[in-house]
Amino acid sequence: MEKYDVIIVGGSCAGSAAGITLAKAGKNTLIIDKARFPREKLCGGMITEKTAKLLQKTYSVSLESMIDSRYNAFGVYHADFGRISSYRSDQTLFMVHRYDFDDFFLQEARKAGCTAYLGDEVMEIDRGKIHTASGRVISADYIIGADGCHSTVRKELRGTKNDEKFPLGLEVNIGYDNLKFYVPPEDVFPWVFFGYVKIGYGWVFPKKDFATVGIAGLTHYDDKNLLVAFRRLLAAVCVDPSRIARKIKGHPVPLNNHFKTLGAGNILLVGDAARLVEPLTGEGIYFAILSGTFAAQAILTTQGDQVQTYNVLVKRHLRGLFAQARLARTLYFNRWINTYAMCKMSGNAKWCKYFLELLSGEMDYCRYFKTVLKDRTVYPSL
Ligand SMILES: Cc1cc2nc3c(=O)[nH]c(=O)nc-3n(C[C@H](O)[C@H](O)[C@H](O)COP(=O)(O)OP(=O)(O)OC[C@H]3O[C@@H](n4cnc5c(N)ncnc54)[C@H](O)[C@@H]3O)c2cc1C
Repeated sequence: MEKYDVIIVGGSCAGSAAGITLAKAGKNTLIIDKARFPREKLCGGMITEKTAKLLQKTYSVSLESMIDSRYNAFGVYHADFGRISSYRSDQTLFMVHRYDFDDFFLQEARKAGCTAYLGDEVMEIDRGKIHTASGRVISADYIIGADGCHSTVRKELRGTKNDEKFPLGLEVNIGYDNLKFYVPPEDVFPWVFFGYVKIGYGWVFPKKDFATVGIAGLTHYDDKNLLVAFRRLLAAVCVDPSRIARKIKGHPVPLNNHFKTLGAGNILLVGDAARLVEPLTGEGIYFAILSGTFAAQAILTTQGDQVQTYNVLVKRHLRGLFAQARLARTLYFNRWINTYAMCKMSGNAKWCKYFLELLSGEMDYCRYFKTVLKDRTVYPSL
């Protein structure tokens, strides 16, 4: 039977990050993914500055070759009030295609020394052995579950519910000939859209050849209405929504993280499998890479309870931020507070200015709100 030091199930951002770290430290590491790369992954493709810095600092990986476009501005639109505010600053938002980004990152893991079995699905884990669809049975000292929202590895952990319901994201790529929102052309930068779902938001993320338009909401609050809300948003940004109606796709976004299940025994969960998506913004790529790195570090540095070390690392770095984001989400999507915030925002672009700093990792939500409330300067909208 084949045996590895570590098997990583899932070769996307979280899995490749863990793979690079482990293989570089000399661990015999296998990545198994059910997809053949390059492959499509439903995603807005927005990468924040903190992600670019993490890739550069920890992996010496430059985003440069994968960037479709970059923007130094950000805008807010509301279903009832129209364009609220937009601001240009020093922080950069990068747009990538996951088709290229994930493939590039997996190649880096292979270059670092990982073996990769692609196009083979992990079906179950039985007494520490992994069984795949092609009939392989492989064992390892440690297993990392980097297999996304519907993680098979997660289901193997005792005490984890299989009937979990996820918030949903809907998305479609729209050519510029069918977009009416981006006129005049100097408005072409990422915009977020409020007022379409009770708890959640929409987005238009421009790439070179098309814009990715999407919406995500907490489905258990707004289940049946998400598609209806998305159609309303499409009507606001699109010349002819019927041209793209059949191209809309959906994928879960695990916004309801609770840090309860990060692993057990010799199994560690990372990225979406561990539900490590920022509860307010829905940013997941950064947290997938960071948690993959932490899981690998826990395996490399700990004798004994690696899951405990991993728990400590994740909680130390993420629990505070995620708790603040959850609180901000509850407050922000309160109808009255949201209307008040929109009124305040429309007179002053400081809310956008400091939000760009929050996204780039320069401040957390506590500092964001303190700074916004303290700063009396009026920053004009673009
Ligand atoms: C509509 C939408 C828009 C988003 N936009 C953004 C954005 O703009 N910016 C951002 O930062 N985040 C965004 N996210 C979140 C982001 O896409 C995820 O958080 C991120 O991809 C998580 O990475 P991961 O490596 O944990 O999992 P994934 O990227 O989901 O990868 C899981 C991998 O595991 C493989 N796999 C699954 N099951 C098995 C199995 N049984 N056996 C073998 N392989 C398996 C899959 O093939 C896949 O390659 C968005 C999410 C959605 C749904």
